Amino acid sequence: MNKKKSLRPPFKLCGKEIAAGTRDFVELEVAALYDMTTISIPIEVIHGKEEGPTLFISAAIHGDEINGVEIIKRLRRHSALRSIKGTLILVPIVNVFGYNAKSRYLPDRRDLNRSFPGSVKGSLAGRMAYLFMKEVVSRCQYGIDLHTAAINRNNFPQLRADMGDEATEELVSSFGAPVVVHSRLRDGSLREAARKEGVKILLFEGGEALRFDDKTIKMGVHGCLGVLEHVGMIRRRRKKAAEANKRVFFAKGSSWIRAPKSGSYYSNKKLGEIISKGEAIAEITDPYGRVVDTVKALQEGVIVGLSSLPLVNQGDAIFHIAYFEDKEDLEDFEDNYDEDA
Ligand SMILES: [Zn+2]
Repeated sequence: MNKKKSLRPPFKLCGKEIAAGTRDFVELEVAALYDMTTISIPIEVIHGKEEGPTLFISAAIHGDEINGVEIIKRLRRHSALRSIKGTLILVPIVNVFGYNAKSRYLPDRRDLNRSFPGSVKGSLAGRMAYLFMKEVVSRCQYGIDLHTAAINRNNFPQLRADMGDEATEELVSSFGAPVVVHSRLRDGSLREAARKEGVKILLFEGGEALRFDDKTIKMGVHGCLGVLEHVGMIRRRRKKAAEANKRVFFAKGSSWIRAPKSGSYYSNKKLGEIISKGEAIAEITDPYGRVVDTVKALQEGVIVGLSSLPLVNQGDAIFHIAYFEDKEDLEDFEDNYDEDA
């Protein structure tokens, strides 16, 4: 009896053909360094035997945000990816220049995530953005972009999404991040450019720049697997009871609490902690330890971002607070994400 042959054509990228049912590495050449050393974006393509969606997962668009690189490293070895439907494109380091320089930016100080969709004849950032859009993003139906907080800040694991369309909301729920912060699309961001191409995209961020944060990395790996399962690319996994019971909390908004005076701040509040309106959450002191001002919570909410640099000028952002619909949500959140749980 003839075995039914897969008719699925190979996936072509950068002159390479990846046959159905195989995985391979591809180098997307971007530019050369001053000494002519070629710089390429490393990509892995996992091209399933069977038809299904095409989804990319990218990290380090900001070169110093390395948690996502580790998330992709761990995800790519997961047994669930041995047999997938559709095509998974893994891009662990998009901003290869920034990554090698331990910097958020490109050599010209441009922010790649403000340079999308880019153009062929634009700046280095614009050219990289254009290439990434053309070769990867525009070929996908879905995308997950991995970030951390910017330097000297720390973020509670969270998804950023422009809520309001049902498909994105379902994707967000399948990721299962503890908090989802509704955020509008930013001009020049990958998220905005992808959306214009009809790609459903999520942004996950957690932890600090230039650090690995194990909790965030684990959540990121599970989140990506949840999305892959939701879009039908991998088979149902048996979830651990604790994971299955976790709820996703949708924040209705977020805002920063800023330093009322200059000095150094001290706070015993942690990421993920709930604060109530009017509560004193930090003290600002002078060099002799005299308290020059107290930072107070303006509204009840959850700390989703925190400055890890204790030195502040008046007006510097210290706490990033997510606000929920009602008190019950906050209480449920506390039960779900108790630090020791
Ligand atoms: Zn970032």
